[in-house]
Amino acid sequence: MDEKLIKRLMTNIKCSVCGEHYDRENVRILGRYTDLWFVSVCCLSCHNQGLVAAVLKEGESIELITDLTEDEYMKFGNTATVDADDVLDVHDFLKDFDGDFARVFMEGAG
Ligand SMILES: [Zn+2]
Repeated sequence: MDEKLIKRLMTNIKCSVCGEHYDRENVRILGRYTDLWFVSVCCLSCHNQGLVAAVLKEGESIELITDLTEDEYMKFGNTATVDADDVLDVHDFLKDFDGDFARVFMEGAG
């Protein structure tokens, strides 16, 4: 799993505002915590900016969580080290966003 793959995956996602697919040139990797990647995307069409969290596990399914707010990103970004509590937080966080991702990704796959 590397940044190229993350960028390729982001191009499967559509802008939540205008529905255009993101271009990999407008995908920026912000950071990574174990299997959780934070990505900033910018729409070429309408210039809407979005934050995406992607959970990549080798041999397992890939989950993308869109519509993060700045605050949500900062919450993760300010975490210097990842401990058991953080992992539990992420699990709770992902549970809340599962359904939303499924919809977004299905639309992206066309
Ligand atoms: Zn757009």
